[in-house]
Amino acid sequence: MIDFCVLGSGLSGSTIANLLSKRYSIKILEKAKGIGGRSSTSKMGNTVRFDHGLQYYSPKDLEFKKFVNRLIKKKILKIWNGDHLDFTFKNKESSSKIIGAKGNNDLNKFLLKKIKKNFNQQITNVRFNKTHWDIYGKNKKFKAKSIIITFPFQQTKKLVKKYLNKNFLKLKVKMTPNITLLLKQKSKLKIPISSVRLNNRIISWISNENSKKRFLSKENHWTVQTSENYSTKIINVYKNKKTFYSKQIIREFCKILNLDIRSLKVIKIHGWKYSWNKIDTGKTCYWDKKLRIGICGDWFIGPKADAAWMSANSLYQKIKKTRLKNFKRV
Ligand SMILES: Cc1cc2nc3c(=O)[nH]c(=O)nc-3n(C[C@H](O)[C@H](O)[C@H](O)COP(=O)(O)OP(=O)(O)OC[C@H]3O[C@@H](n4cnc5c(N)ncnc54)[C@H](O)[C@@H]3O)c2cc1C
Repeated sequence: MIDFCVLGSGLSGSTIANLLSKRYSIKILEKAKGIGGRSSTSKMGNTVRFDHGLQYYSPKDLEFKKFVNRLIKKKILKIWNGDHLDFTFKNKESSSKIIGAKGNNDLNKFLLKKIKKNFNQQITNVRFNKTHWDIYGKNKKFKAKSIIITFPFQQTKKLVKKYLNKNFLKLKVKMTPNITLLLKQKSKLKIPISSVRLNNRIISWISNENSKKRFLSKENHWTVQTSENYSTKIINVYKNKKTFYSKQIIREFCKILNLDIRSLKVIKIHGWKYSWNKIDTGKTCYWDKKLRIGICGDWFIGPKADAAWMSANSLYQKIKKTRLKNFKRV
């Protein structure tokens, strides 16, 4: 039987799985068809890539910074050079922006390279049976001696509420939603913008995927993310009116960049119900050594990738201190 099943292949799942794999047997179970969670990359054809979740790494935590720099040296990550403008369109943003060499899930892919992964496995139930956990996926049951859950708080609670400490369940975690639109622009017009952060009613961020220099194309490719207010207003209704909301966002986008609406085509509109938690919960992770259930994720600490990485590292330190009987130490 596998030692640890890690549920989720986002940055916290990939990090904890990678760390635990140095000592134990590990399996990743992921509901999506690929690696990454909120740092997923969307493909269009053979070459074009859109980062439709996490836009870039800008490490503030010293240890995470060191880790990211090691991966830049290995060419897994790279610096996103170019014109990164603020809402005035005049000033350049000073913070460095680091991205995956091919896509922003490159970091997750690197961490999970040697780890067994099962995709399209949405876990709907888990049961503790003293010696092990039964984990119910899509038409498939998995067994593991321990489970690690890496979903946002609301989804974690739904799955394992009855196994969690009452105080932990009282945590107040409010995650902001986000709507992301992926666009293709037919004209060959060259716009010298890599990204722009906005103060707009509808749009908060625009990124030019071509400027990441991962592919060559005669067309422009844009990732557009909506403002907190607008996202909150439409997150529960946009699915029934995708064309309507896409057009509303595109109209604003065209106004901002002075583009002809007829040159644009929607590739995808995606709603993130749980994008980020801005408030630190005061905890870094959750570990119950008796039930052998662990939880980590960015939402414990803050809204960014640093937080996901730090939470996973903190959980690993706790697990390392536990004497786990009958676990294989690889
Ligand atoms: C639109 C957007 C933009 C962002 N921009 C930035 C940025 O520029 N810089 C930055 O640092 N951070 C950014 N973030 C935040 C960053 O993406 C997150 O902090 C980080 O990716 C969180 O990783 P995680 O592993 O904790 O969670 P997640 O990535 O959410 O991982 C959870 C995983 O669990 C899987 N899962 C959920 N339920 C189930 C289930 N029942 N069964 C199986 N699997 C399941 C999910 O599919 C997912 O893969 C952004 C986030 C969003 C949404």
